[in-house]
Amino acid sequence: MQECFDTVIIGAGIAGLYTALNLDPAMRVLVLAKGSLERSSSVRAQGGIAAAIDSADSEDAHLNDSLIAGGFKNNTEALKILVSEAPRTVQNLMDYGVQFDRRADGSLDLSLEGGHSHPRVLHCRDATGREIIHRLMEAVSLNRNITVWEDAMAVGIRQILGGFGLEVLREGARVPVAAGSCVLATGGVGRVYEYTSNSASATGDGLLLAGQLGARIRHMGWMQFHPTAFADHQRECFLLSETMRGDGAHILNAEGREFLGGYDPRGDLAPRDVICRAMRAESRRLGDDRFFLDFSAVPAKFAEERYPNISAKLRAEGFSLTEDKIPIYPCQHYLMGGIDTALNGETNVRGLFAVGECAHTGIHGSSRLAGNSMLEDLVFAKQIAEELNGRTGFSAKGGSFGLPGRTGTEALPAGLRTELRAIMQRAYFIEPDPAAVVSGIERVREIRSMLDGSRFALTRQYVETKALANAAYLILKEVL
Ligand SMILES: Cc1cc2nc3c(=O)[nH]c(=O)nc-3n(C[C@H](O)[C@H](O)[C@H](O)COP(=O)(O)OP(=O)(O)OC[C@H]3O[C@@H](n4cnc5c(N)ncnc54)[C@H](O)[C@@H]3O)c2cc1C
Repeated sequence: MQECFDTVIIGAGIAGLYTALNLDPAMRVLVLAKGSLERSSSVRAQGGIAAAIDSADSEDAHLNDSLIAGGFKNNTEALKILVSEAPRTVQNLMDYGVQFDRRADGSLDLSLEGGHSHPRVLHCRDATGREIIHRLMEAVSLNRNITVWEDAMAVGIRQILGGFGLEVLREGARVPVAAGSCVLATGGVGRVYEYTSNSASATGDGLLLAGQLGARIRHMGWMQFHPTAFADHQRECFLLSETMRGDGAHILNAEGREFLGGYDPRGDLAPRDVICRAMRAESRRLGDDRFFLDFSAVPAKFAEERYPNISAKLRAEGFSLTEDKIPIYPCQHYLMGGIDTALNGETNVRGLFAVGECAHTGIHGSSRLAGNSMLEDLVFAKQIAEELNGRTGFSAKGGSFGLPGRTGTEALPAGLRTELRAIMQRAYFIEPDPAAVVSGIERVREIRSMLDGSRFALTRQYVETKALANAAYLILKEVL
C-alpha cells in the first residue's frame, strides 16, 4: 500500500526545505533527501545571499547588475520578483534565527562580490549555507505536518489519478508514494564534471524525473564555472570564496603577476565567466595554467575572523591564508538552465513544480550573479508554496498505483561515470571544444541507450549514472 501526501518535495536543500516551511500547515508534506540532510550544495555555500538593503543601494542596481552578469538574457519579470522580494526574504531568514554577521555598530555587514556595483551580500562568516540549512532544519522539525525521509531516493515518477505516483528507494526497498503535487528541488548537475564545487548529490536526478513526465528543459548549455577553487585537484573542489576578492584578494598568473585588468576593466571584480575566460586566455598566452590567489594585502586578524573555515582548510594543506600565494584553478560551479518554470514555479506539467538549481526561472540569464542563487531558491520556493496554498482539487489520496515490475539484476559496468566526466571535462569546460563535443555526444548517446531498459539492478548508483548520462547529453546537445 502506498503512502499518501498532499505534496512531495524531492530535495532537502535550501529550496526544498523553504518550500515545505511555507506550505499551509494543514497540508501533509513529505520531503525526500537521497542522503543525509548535511549533504547538499546548500550546506557548502560560503559567500552569502544578495539583497539591496543598504540605504545607498537599490533594487534597480541589483537588477541591473544581474542583467549585466547574465548577458541581458535574463527573464526580467522573474528578476524583478527576485530583487523586490530579497529584503523581505533575508528578514524571514533572520526570523528563523539565521545570524548574519554584523559590524561593531550592530548594522549588517555587507560584502562586495564580483559583478556587484555595491556591497550587498549578507553572510555568516564563510559558511552561510550551513547556517541557513541548520536553522531551516530546526524549523522543519517543529512542523508536525512535514515528514522528512533521509536516505530516500526518488527513482521514478508518473502521473496518476489526482496527482503523481513516485517510486522511492528507501532502506533497500522500493516504496510507492502518492502525492497531489510534486516539487522537484534536486539541485544541480556538477558531478558530471571531473572538477566541481557541488556536493555528491548533484547528479541531475530532477532533470531525469522531469523528462519522464515530458516537462520542458531549457538552456542546459548555460553552465557557470568558478575561478577560485583550491588547486588540490580533488573531485569535490574546495572554493576560496568570491567575497575574498571583494575584500582585497587578487588573482595572479603563473609569473606571480596581476593580469585581469588587461582583459576587463573590472579586474578581479569582474563576473565569474569573464574571469574564467581571461584565465584560460592567459594560460594559453604563457603556456602555463598555474594561477594563485594573493590575500596578503589584507590584515591577518580580519582575514582569520572573516574566513575561519577557509583558513583552517588551507592550514591543514600547509598554506597560510594571508602569507602564501594560494594555488587555484577553475571548476564547474552552477547550472543556470534546467527545468523550465513559470513565475509560480510550475512546469508545463500541471501540478509538477521545480525550484532551486534544478529549475530554470530565467533570472540568471546565461551567467549568475554571485549571491543570487540561494536568494532564488528562497524567493521561488515561496512563490510555489503560495500557489499550492491557494489551490484545491489536487489529491492523490484516492488513487492507488502499483510500482512497475522489475527483474533486472545486472551490475553496472565499471567506469561509466569516470568516462562521462572525462568526456564533459574535454568537451565543455569554460568554453566548448567543438571537436570534443561532436565525439563526446556520440559516446554519451551510446551510454544513455545502454542504460535504458531494465536489465540493470535498480540501485542508487544505477539511477545516478543514468541521470548523469542524461545531463551530459542535454548539455552537449545544446552546445553542439
Ligand atoms: C561550494 C559552493 C558554494 C556556493 N556559494 C554560494 C553563495 O555564496 N551564494 C549563493 O547564492 N549560492 C552559492 N552556491 C550555490 C547554491 O548554494 C546552490 O545553488 C543552492 O544551494 C542549491 O540549492 P538546492 O536546494 O537547489 O539544491 P541542493 O542544496 O543541492 O539540494 C539538493 C537536494 O536534493 C536531494 N536529491 C537529489 N536527487 C534526489 C533524488 N533522486 N531523490 C531524493 N532526493 C534527491 C539531495 O539529497 C539534496 O537534499 C554555492 C554552491 C556551492 C557548491
